[in-house]
Amino acid sequence: MSVFFPQDIIIKKRDGGALSRDEIEFFARGVSDGRFADYQATALLMAIFWRGMTPQETAWLTDAMMRSGEVIDLKDLPGAKVDKHSTGGVGDKVSLILAPLAAACGLKVPMMSGRGLGHTGGTLDKLEAIPGFKVQLSVHEFRAILQKVGAAMIGQTPQVVPADRKLYSLRDVTGTVECIPLICASIMSKKLAEGIDSLVLDVKFGKGAFMKKKADALTLAKAMVAVGKAAGKPVWAQLTAMNQPLGHAAGHTTEVIESIECLKGRGPADLMEVTYALTGHMLVLGALAKDMAEARKKMEAAIANGSALEKFRQMCAAQGGDPKVIENYKLMPTAKKLFEVKAPADAKGFVSEVDALKCGHAIMALGGGRAAVTDKVDHAVGIADLIKIGEPVAAGTRLCTLHVNDDAKGAKAEAFIREAIKFSSIVPKQESLIQDLIQ
Ligand code: URA
Repeated sequence: MSVFFPQDIIIKKRDGGALSRDEIEFFARGVSDGRFADYQATALLMAIFWRGMTPQETAWLTDAMMRSGEVIDLKDLPGAKVDKHSTGGVGDKVSLILAPLAAACGLKVPMMSGRGLGHTGGTLDKLEAIPGFKVQLSVHEFRAILQKVGAAMIGQTPQVVPADRKLYSLRDVTGTVECIPLICASIMSKKLAEGIDSLVLDVKFGKGAFMKKKADALTLAKAMVAVGKAAGKPVWAQLTAMNQPLGHAAGHTTEVIESIECLKGRGPADLMEVTYALTGHMLVLGALAKDMAEARKKMEAAIANGSALEKFRQMCAAQGGDPKVIENYKLMPTAKKLFEVKAPADAKGFVSEVDALKCGHAIMALGGGRAAVTDKVDHAVGIADLIKIGEPVAAGTRLCTLHVNDDAKGAKAEAFIREAIKFSSIVPKQESLIQDLIQ
């Protein structure tokens, strides 16, 4: 590998130049081996933030970051290996339903997920509401569960994409997170290191999403699809609105319960719409369905005949979790109090807004979120029975049930819920949830 002076690379990008593959490789390796000091890496990140990267530079950065650690090789496992990644939202428990559902339809789903930070929840934290469920598995165990069950859901191992861990921690404290090429390389390097054949992305936009504007989500989606193409892996990206929470539950135990209900065939319409769309794209990409109509039939059959729920049970057991939670939700952490938030005396008409960001803040207020990566989350607390936009309201209508462990925290959460939910006298216009598919 060529050797460079970090300052030359920084100056080139600072002045708007396009970096060569060797320079990018030197940077991605240098942050791990110390040839790029933290202050030099952050200077380059800021230069990238302002000057951007070409699609070619972004693809090279993704590739260099992916190869900074172990790239899992699943070629010897039979079947199509397809994963899904969401850019995150509030109440987004799709992964918990989609992984067993896709596995029941014949896919292998090697899913490495993250933890929640800020107002968005994390799949790993939700899974840990299931007593005993282990998310920190070795690659060997991950592969064995994938082979046996068809789906495994774990946290990133320290060996996978170490460059991202370093770069993300620097970006987090230097105002360089919101940069499309850096976000794209960060997400795609981790997904491509999982050993997938293809990938479906759920790029969220709106109040509760990382990307507030649809235009930004579209740019990110296109960049990630292009990086997938450059890596020779088909990647489809769905654009999904995240203005109100998905489903009726947000938190940990509350979201696991709602996910199991979906697998039992009792899922709310919006959550099932997004789950069927994303899982359907996975089945088409994995050549297990010729189109979305065929995929839909297979998925509905897997829910109706119990095979998707059975996959969830098997995955739970294989990862050390207690599968009895499926029949007995009380085996998961349970809050001391259930508190119904009711519509005020003057409420009438319809729900016109359920602000996902404010609902996320309610979860944080209850102790179910993480302000810093080192924070512990309370799995028991959360929101259930959340009312949806368009539902009729009158004085005393239940807006949600808060699962509370501490009265003062519960009062703060209630205030956030009251700010989140707005009413109107006319039926509000509903935006469509799924707005685009980039292929
Ligand atoms: N999620 C990631 O994994 N990386 C980013 O840069 C942003 C969101």
